Amino acid sequence: MTTSLALAGAGIGGLALAAALQRRGFDIHVYERAPRLDPVGAGITLQMNAMLALRTLGLDALVAREGHAPTDSRVMTPDGRTLGALDLARVADAVGAPALAVHRARLQRALASQVDPARLHLGAAVTGYTQDARAVHVRLDDGRTVTADGLIACDGLHSAVRRQLVGDGAPHYAGYTSWRGVARGVASVDRNRVSETWGAGCRFGVVPLADDETYWFATANAAPGGRDAQGTARDTLLARFGAWHGPIADLLRATPDEAIVRTDIADRDPTVPWVDGRVALLGDAAHPMTPNLGQGGAQALEDAAVLAHTLTRGDALPDALRRYETARRARATAVVNRSRHLGAVAQWEGSRVRAVRDLLLTCVPASVNHRALVDAMHFALP
Ligand SMILES: Cc1cc2nc3c(=O)[nH]c(=O)nc-3n(C[C@H](O)[C@H](O)[C@H](O)COP(=O)(O)OP(=O)(O)OC[C@H]3O[C@@H](n4cnc5c(N)ncnc54)[C@H](O)[C@@H]3O)c2cc1C
Repeated sequence: MTTSLALAGAGIGGLALAAALQRRGFDIHVYERAPRLDPVGAGITLQMNAMLALRTLGLDALVAREGHAPTDSRVMTPDGRTLGALDLARVADAVGAPALAVHRARLQRALASQVDPARLHLGAAVTGYTQDARAVHVRLDDGRTVTADGLIACDGLHSAVRRQLVGDGAPHYAGYTSWRGVARGVASVDRNRVSETWGAGCRFGVVPLADDETYWFATANAAPGGRDAQGTARDTLLARFGAWHGPIADLLRATPDEAIVRTDIADRDPTVPWVDGRVALLGDAAHPMTPNLGQGGAQALEDAAVLAHTLTRGDALPDALRRYETARRARATAVVNRSRHLGAVAQWEGSRVRAVRDLLLTCVPASVNHRALVDAMHFALP
């Protein structure tokens, strides 16, 4: 008999899982709160493990067409000195997949193109569920209830399903906020280089995308909930970062103010359960993390790859969901913790601790960084 699944959320994890399960003959329906698929947040780096996970889902070639694979990665100082460098092309060779920088809109469009539009329900927020021995009954905000064999919650950081399943309150604010944007046609950008520049309690990242676009992000220590008055974000960022090394000021000047997205950075303490009978959490709904390792989307894709695998083994659905959680939780927990710690160190403000940190960074041999990244990027199905 065909297994029917309701998926909450058409983000990176939900769309990738839906595309893969539809191809494998599952009866899936995706319920997405937003009335249109308008991704927030400019660009994203799909690290090598994300590309390996997409490969197991049969989606890597599709996504690769949308992105760009830079070959050089740097951590820098505001005056342009390199603290650490990595040859990404060599790491990609060792891992067997590139790291891909991609515009979020293009990624979402590509993944959505693989899902039957009749099965993608926009403007339909999931508000909760009940279940019995045979099925799960999913409540939508328009008053409907849909019934399926299982519910996979891919509804992100503020997941409504998690609220019911775990009930662990609001996410944990990391102490810093972020801004993101995409600029087009900035000649001073080195299109092979991704960089992150560390200042006093603030950072700036540069990520070249396909088609002469460049994604940039910035962070700064701040109280939670801050907002920029309309039309002021770019000037605020120029005041803070405009004197840093090129091409930072050029990128900010080439980005329309209204296209700059501000997001407070948050995660959650890793917890279980992710599974309740016929219901499972996936991606940020299960293990939201800070973006310091560029791994939130990658871990959502690893979840999708492992879940698609456990669901196709022919086990009873609750057993398949438990097997998925068991296979994934140690890895996701480790990444949440590493990302939180890296962010805390990268956001240090004091000049002495930063000087020591920066000195230590320059002392790590490139071969050690290479080995560590190759190990971190490993992904294989259980
Ligand atoms: C500044 C920043 C930079 C980042 N950079 C990277 C990076 O370079 N690489 C990387 O891998 N990750 C990065 N991330 C993390 C990454 O964006 C997330 O981890 C990833 O989007 C999680 O995917 P997801 O599918 O779990 O959730 P999301 O992509 O957040 O999707 C959740 C979806 O669910 C919908 N939804 C919400 N509530 C409901 C509901 N009740 N019912 C139905 N639908 C609902 C939402 O509208 C949304 O479409 C970054 C994050 C931030 C904040």
